[in-house]
Amino acid sequence: MSKTHLGHTARKRFGQNFLHDDYVIGKIVAAINPQNEQNLVEIGPGLGALTDPVCEEVDALTVVELDRDLAKRLRHHPFNGDKLTVIEQDAMTFDFTSLLKSMPYEGKKLRVFGNLPYNISTPLMFHLFDHADSIADMHFMLQKEVVNRLAAGPGTKNYGRLSVMTQYYCHVIPVLNVPPGAFKPPPKVDSAVVKLVPHATPPVEVNSLNTLERVCAQAFNQRRKTIRNSLKDCLTEAQISELGIDPTCRAEVLSLKDFATLANAVTALEQ
Ligand code: SAM
Repeated sequence: MSKTHLGHTARKRFGQNFLHDDYVIGKIVAAINPQNEQNLVEIGPGLGALTDPVCEEVDALTVVELDRDLAKRLRHHPFNGDKLTVIEQDAMTFDFTSLLKSMPYEGKKLRVFGNLPYNISTPLMFHLFDHADSIADMHFMLQKEVVNRLAAGPGTKNYGRLSVMTQYYCHVIPVLNVPPGAFKPPPKVDSAVVKLVPHATPPVEVNSLNTLERVCAQAFNQRRKTIRNSLKDCLTEAQISELGIDPTCRAEVLSLKDFATLANAVTALEQ
């Protein structure tokens, strides 16, 4: 399969797999449901597979693209020119909270979407979670396996650290599965679109997010271990029991609330 699409040769280091299936593109745009007077932001617009149909629906769209050639091409787009604001930057370090302050519709949070470069999709999502107060919702194309992990609940094989941490920040709604053939060049994995809606208030109280992250990492690091064993350097068996959690259970059966309880106990002991 040629790596050149619409005259641009896909760059692997930028995770470039361009959507070309009109049916899939239509479904994604319908799921995003872009409307006028919304502060819309696309990450990684590429050759405009999502950018163009979204611009048909609205008056203004801001895009963040790292590839200089693609950013230049978007700036010179014959139809979208007036509607598009092209920001040539790395979305991984981009300040989305500051962006909101310069957006056209005051009082409205960002609506972020993108067919994300898979090589950086997880850290990029967590970077966006740091700006969750500025974001109304997000629609992302990701590896299907990652979407399964984001959405998984306790007691299922895909449930892990990524599920717990993501569900702390967001409501996770899988939208659509997408086969490799919808892209040029086709990725080696299946893909899926997910909608993430940041919680207005966190679903559980967590005193230190770093500690929650650390406790999850430790607990899921060796999934077959009981939490009595995996957390033994920070909580005793008796301390875990006192929290109302069975020390002989495994991480995979614990809820977000349980992890918050364990993390808050560790934070309190470390103070
Ligand atoms: N949206 C287009 C589509 O659906 O066909 C392109 C998707 S392609 C999977 C990922 C896009 O993200 C590319 O345009 C790539 O250049 C861009 N990109 C890669 N790393 C980036 C980063 N750190 N910040 C912003 N854009 C990035």
